Amino acid sequence: VKEEGKNSFQFYTPDMNEAITKKMQLENALRKGLERQEFTVYYQPQVDVRTGRVIGIEALIRWRHPELGDLQPDDFIPLAEETGLIVPIGKWVLVEACRQNRLWQSMGFQPVRVAVNISSRQFQQSHFVEHVRRTLEETGLDPKYLELELTESIIQDSKYAISTMRKLKDMGVHLSIDDFGTGYSSLSYLKLFPIDSLKIDKSFTQNILADAKDTALVQTIIKIAHYLDLNVIAEGVETREQLQFLQQKLCDEAQGFFFSRPISVEEMSTVFREQLWV
Ligand code: C2E
Ligand code: CA
Ligand code: CA
Ligand code: CA
Repeated sequence: VKEEGKNSFQFYTPDMNEAITKKMQLENALRKGLERQEFTVYYQPQVDVRTGRVIGIEALIRWRHPELGDLQPDDFIPLAEETGLIVPIGKWVLVEACRQNRLWQSMGFQPVRVAVNISSRQFQQSHFVEHVRRTLEETGLDPKYLELELTESIIQDSKYAISTMRKLKDMGVHLSIDDFGTGYSSLSYLKLFPIDSLKIDKSFTQNILADAKDTALVQTIIKIAHYLDLNVIAEGVETREQLQFLQQKLCDEAQGFFFSRPISVEEMSTVFREQLWV
């Protein structure tokens, strides 16, 4: 141990040591989790508000740890991002989501687009585009049935982001901006980025009937999206009233507990079979 290292270590309190140990344990568990295939993907329907049909599904990772039990993404995605483990984890989710979507199509279900969350760390990998291309080839999924959900944080390096997005668009993959409105970026990127849709964050959706400012914001986001010829989807729709508001304001798609929580592959198959919201 270097001299400075030793000294600086004295500033840590026992509490901080405990926090660090916990983090390292979780990091190890994440690594092992990948090896032992403890992760699964759940799917949440995305519904066309005009027809009530499921036209997309979002892939959401779940982790079943043998001792810790079921862990939610918010418990481990931030650490996975910090440690870089989000790269192999994200790769796995992408392959799994494409494979499963292709399988559903080959079973004869109405084709839908599968939306996969891509962390900016993963997006910035030099082989990212190649990995997407290879995944589509290997799983046989038509690129138009894949959507990548990107957050505004990728804009940090906008030149790189634009060129990567172009390559993905040229491949035929759909791109959407997730958690729209929660970042700190300017609106000008909307005209620079080759995207297909905006996803209104649930923090806005959930207040559309309670908070006049959120009502105004959501209405405005829908209008901006349509002026720019973008599709718009609202997440976090929990009530019929929220859905009706979105229908009135001509939002294109909705996703949320009102329709369904994220569900397992088996449960999703039932939804496809029955097309529950027609
Ligand atoms: P997100 O991309 O904004 O996903 C939406 C989250 O809202 C999901 O939480 C979903 O289960 C939840 N949700 C959906 N409908 C409703 C609703 O009506 N009400 C409420 N209260 N919540 C609703 P989840 O599955 O826990 O995921 C949390 C976050 O973790 C995601 O937020 C996403 O940022 C991240 N995440 C999940 N899976 C992945 C993944 O495979 N890769 C990456 N990079 N991030 C992921
Ligand atoms: Ca979508
Ligand atoms: Ca998302
Ligand atoms: Ca969100």
